[in-house]
Amino acid sequence: MIHNALLLRIRLYFCCSFSIMNLSKHLHHKVFQIIAALAAKEQIPSYVIGGFVRDLLLEGAGNTPKDIDIVVVGSGIEMAEKVKQAIGEEVPLSIFRNFGTAMIKWGDTEIEFVGARKESYRRDSRKPLVENGSLEDDQNRRDFTINALAISLNPNDFGDLLDPFGGVKHLEEKLITTPLEPGSTFSDDPLRMLRGIRFATRLGFTIEAGTLDAIHEHRQRIGIVSQERISDELNKIIEAKQPGKGFLLLDQTGLLEIIFPELHQMKGVEEVNTMLHKDNFLHTLEVLDNIALKTDDLWLRWAALLHDIAKPRTRKFEPDTGWTFHAHEFIGAKMIPGIFRRMKLPLNEKMRYVQKLVQLHLRPIVLSQDIVTDAAVRRLIYDAGEDLEDLMTLCEADITSKNPRTVKRHLRNFQVVREKIHELEERDSIRNFQPPISGDDIQKVFGIPPSRPVGLIKNAIKEAILDGEIPNNFVAARQRMLEEGKALGLTVHQELKREKE
Ligand code: ATP
Ligand code: MG
Repeated sequence: MIHNALLLRIRLYFCCSFSIMNLSKHLHHKVFQIIAALAAKEQIPSYVIGGFVRDLLLEGAGNTPKDIDIVVVGSGIEMAEKVKQAIGEEVPLSIFRNFGTAMIKWGDTEIEFVGARKESYRRDSRKPLVENGSLEDDQNRRDFTINALAISLNPNDFGDLLDPFGGVKHLEEKLITTPLEPGSTFSDDPLRMLRGIRFATRLGFTIEAGTLDAIHEHRQRIGIVSQERISDELNKIIEAKQPGKGFLLLDQTGLLEIIFPELHQMKGVEEVNTMLHKDNFLHTLEVLDNIALKTDDLWLRWAALLHDIAKPRTRKFEPDTGWTFHAHEFIGAKMIPGIFRRMKLPLNEKMRYVQKLVQLHLRPIVLSQDIVTDAAVRRLIYDAGEDLEDLMTLCEADITSKNPRTVKRHLRNFQVVREKIHELEERDSIRNFQPPISGDDIQKVFGIPPSRPVGLIKNAIKEAILDGEIPNNFVAARQRMLEEGKALGLTVHQELKREKE
């Protein structure tokens, strides 16, 4: 949503295109006054540039922007040191001499300083050779016209917008395009291809045709970008309001096949005996967009993206039943560690959470179709544990029928499942189930070491509770333990006292 007052200004700017837009009223953050004073005193031309200016024109100025990029014609590091002194309170300053940049963290805002520079690139690296340059040189090296906008912080023209490539016009037209020739822009630093798709997705913009063609042409150059940077951009695409669009663009430009082959393989439909299966890629993107309406959680969104990932490898046409994807939920869950490892995503509880949701994603659907038995619901509560709500959210997002009556029917069925879950939870406290009798207890009672019978007895008690054969309490569990022990030929060594009862 373009901020109204600014939109009006942008329009005025177009009517009288010789006038320069002045944005001084919108530079609320205290750091701008500090830099302006230093720029005047030290005669170091200084500008705010990039994302801050773009977002200011799109959304208006917040009082605590997340990051502010400052470019100075001179040393960025020296300017940062002077700004730190002038702030007068203790703020952390990080200096990156190799990059000639410095960063101050002031409250929640990161202020990055860089000296204006000219860049040239080598074939094998996205790290440029750098030399000092003018503001124009620095704007030339920016990735997109909407990211090359700068505002002067200098005394003679404080607040003036400097827009050499029509960035404001492109904001109006919702267009992503590069300042210089797109081919060399992307070949120089191929990360820009993903950044472009990310901005188009996040802002709801279109990538200009020539720019899009250039991404396609240079797609193989993505090979010189580190996996961490690629995954970072993928995550930002997934976090957008409508992430599906980003994946369509990745596919259209040929990048998807290179960076996410498993997802690319989901594309397309096959027909046997006039029976088509749905395009699993498009279905997945719909599920992702659906879930994005319900949650901002990155990993729940990843689960949506990966829930059917094993469909291509499990797809089979069976003359009696048509298309089947047997066990795709289990095989999909097994594929996830490999995907996460390659993508340098965390191999920790986040990954296990995604695996769990992928593995369980059909369970509520099955429940909603059959007659729901208490035992089946209890098992789902036990297996999903604290992720049950997220699993239900995933399953509801998975309904992508074009027929509103079918959608309604599915949602109603899920409602029945939800009610049943609620009812059983109140009664049986199965979620985060802790067995009323521990392995230790069993060892003491029968005087045996940790061994297979202990596991067998423990499991039998759990199964009996989940199946509703016995209630979830100590007395019933102790009784079942004694029966199971006897059946295994064990004798009671010590009575079990109940302190926890
Ligand atoms: P956001 O912070 O919302 O992700 P941003 O545009 O501020 O978006 P940053 O990564 O913070 O992105 O970069 C700040 C500015 O630096 C950009 O606006 C752009 O001008 C420039 N920039 C960043 N990365 C590149 C790149 N790979 N190639 C060229 N310019 C870049
Ligand atoms: Mg930024």
